[in-house]
Amino acid sequence: MSSPKYKRVVLKLSGEALAGEQGFGINPSVIKSVAQQVKEVSDLGVEVAVVVGGGNIWRGKIGEEMGMDRANADYMGMLATVMNSLALQDSLEMLDVESRVQTSIEMRQVAEPYIRRRAIRHLEKKRVVIFAAGTGNPYFSTDTTAALRAAEIEAEVILMAKNNVDGVYSADPRLDVNAVKYEELSYLDVLKEGLAVMDSTASSLCMDNNIPLIVFSIMDNGNIKRAVCGEKIGTIVRGNK
Ligand code: UDP
Repeated sequence: MSSPKYKRVVLKLSGEALAGEQGFGINPSVIKSVAQQVKEVSDLGVEVAVVVGGGNIWRGKIGEEMGMDRANADYMGMLATVMNSLALQDSLEMLDVESRVQTSIEMRQVAEPYIRRRAIRHLEKKRVVIFAAGTGNPYFSTDTTAALRAAEIEAEVILMAKNNVDGVYSADPRLDVNAVKYEELSYLDVLKEGLAVMDSTASSLCMDNNIPLIVFSIMDNGNIKRAVCGEKIGTIVRGNK
């Protein structure tokens, strides 16, 4: 039986990872499979916190391009992450996985507000904690949220699940046949080469706080478990190289 390498992890799910092939909205079979994969890891006794994106519904940048005020558009993006988080919680509940959603913007009728100590307590009780509404601040991303929350709850690693790529490449593998996949990188490499792993705010936060990141594809069933058990999949970005 495989045993976990990490005790506490942050799983970053982009909104697109919930949309599946259609690229927009929430695909019921995809979210079911994601929930099943989260359950597998939680069943191993690993404490799982999830940060969910919102790009499958709305991105602040789109609003800005339409002429909207950026901060307003970003708040819409944060609300989109809440919708995804509630959908994930629902799918987890159907599998009898205990979970809590905590939002960075208060909406008490919908979910708990983010309280660090309370989140840690839930994790200790093996509840999956879903962090919604990003950092609560415009001009940030859910990648930065994952880095921030990972530092706050002292997670050992961030697992970045992608739906369209299976690691970090020198160029976009869908556009460039010569693109090579990296097995290992440092955050400094990511920042210097401008690799599209996460935005620079998130990379810097991970680098400064020495939080490793594993980028992998969520389309292969069981990959979250493989990553948690220390199997070499995707690309690892090391905090201190
Ligand atoms: N967002 C924000 N502050 C945050 C996190 C997210 O303003 O701390 C907004 C931003 O507009 C972003 C949207 O929420 O475009 C959705 O988040 P993100 O793009 O990170 O989602 P993903 O790409 O992971 O699906």
